[in-house]
Amino acid sequence: MAEKKSGGKLRYEELAYDKKNYFETASEEERTAMFDYAEGYKAFLDAAKTEREACAEAVRLAKKAGFTEFKFGDKLSAGDKKYFINRGKSVVVFRVGTENMEEDGMRIIASHIDAPRIDIKQNPLYEEAGMCFLKTHYYGGIKKYQWTTIPLALHGVVVLKDGKKVEIKVGEDADDPVFYIDDLLPHLGAEQMSKNGTKIIDGEQLNIVVGGMPYADKDVSDKVKLTVLEYLNKEYGMKEEDFLSAELSAVPAYPARDVGFDRALIGAYGHDDRVCAYPALTAVLNNDSRHTVLAMLVDKEEIGSEGNTGMQSRIYSDLMEEICEALGASFRKVRYASKCLSSDVTAAYDPNFAGVFEKMNSALVSCGTCMSKFTGSRGKSGSNDANAEFVGEVRAMFDGDGVVWQTAELGKVDAGGGGTVAKYLANLNIDTVDLGVPVISMHSPWELISKADLYSNYRAFIAFMK
Ligand code: MN
Ligand code: MN
Repeated sequence: MAEKKSGGKLRYEELAYDKKNYFETASEEERTAMFDYAEGYKAFLDAAKTEREACAEAVRLAKKAGFTEFKFGDKLSAGDKKYFINRGKSVVVFRVGTENMEEDGMRIIASHIDAPRIDIKQNPLYEEAGMCFLKTHYYGGIKKYQWTTIPLALHGVVVLKDGKKVEIKVGEDADDPVFYIDDLLPHLGAEQMSKNGTKIIDGEQLNIVVGGMPYADKDVSDKVKLTVLEYLNKEYGMKEEDFLSAELSAVPAYPARDVGFDRALIGAYGHDDRVCAYPALTAVLNNDSRHTVLAMLVDKEEIGSEGNTGMQSRIYSDLMEEICEALGASFRKVRYASKCLSSDVTAAYDPNFAGVFEKMNSALVSCGTCMSKFTGSRGKSGSNDANAEFVGEVRAMFDGDGVVWQTAELGKVDAGGGGTVAKYLANLNIDTVDLGVPVISMHSPWELISKADLYSNYRAFIAFMK
């Protein structure tokens, strides 16, 4: 029997705002679509643990969808499906629409494909106490102690003395060996455990075990190191000196897995920010919008968007300018008419750490992708604070397309904060707002997200590009 609602209750429902759980409001059909979409996402995560791999995987998927490479100077026309690769570490996938670009602008989604990890130093190899280690320098904001005593895989490239580039990827196949950062046994850990969290494991203690077998020659001093060097030489043609021009990273060796009896959640390394990059990519690949749409998958966000592959590089505005020139449009006019979703993750409200959140303005798991009008810290510092007019415009796009979404800030005021690439796009005079999936345990080796929020993010991008 239907509940009989009082006049006040009806009036309250009409006037008040409450977040909705997307699983609860989704149809059976939509829920199936969420779970199907998550399978493609998990495959992407497993294929793309570094920015180089994410770039290659995005290009592979783009080619499969009929996209071809764009180079500066190429001609373009409506309907063209293109990708532009920047040094193998960032990629912009775009489709040219039919609208006049000077009036209509571009619809841009910008996400990053780098993730916190443990990078190998340039002179890393040494032997001590029967074990061979690699010295490291961590990349991005991590809790160092979380990266000990877990299986690690090594990914990256080595440029040999003769200029030849070799790729290394060890630890992902079930029969591969993995690598390891050790921690102290609790029996001797009394002093360690009394330390401040940032000191429990020191940066210079993040040394990775890569061998333990002595080379069979009594005259050699570093026998285990020689065994490792011998292996690297046979397998990759490397000598120790070649680490000087290598870019190697240790990442968690775990694959993405469903979490929970009901499989509602996904645990994985690198949801930040592939949980936005993959929907951005697939939204452009599966698109026949009249607008010109771009997915920018960029590098170096975790260390401040620096360098020639990070969002602050001129390469991205140069590319947009090249696209404009190829279509006979003024870059300035196009920029002024463009709209951008800076798509990066946000912190999900975590009931186990409720003290750092202000619940009314926190992202709730499964309540949809999350818009942050502003990010930053200590009084919105370092933030792109989007205009209410643009927030209203994007809100109408989402609501008009039935997207379940929410808004939030990252934690309570003065609890901390964080930034995104939003401000760099906004600096080009492009209307920009942050939107992304809420994450539990962000920047840990294994982060958690909801399949509902992943799919909501994809739906939001489709709505934005319509
Ligand atoms: Mn991020
Ligand atoms: Mn991050």
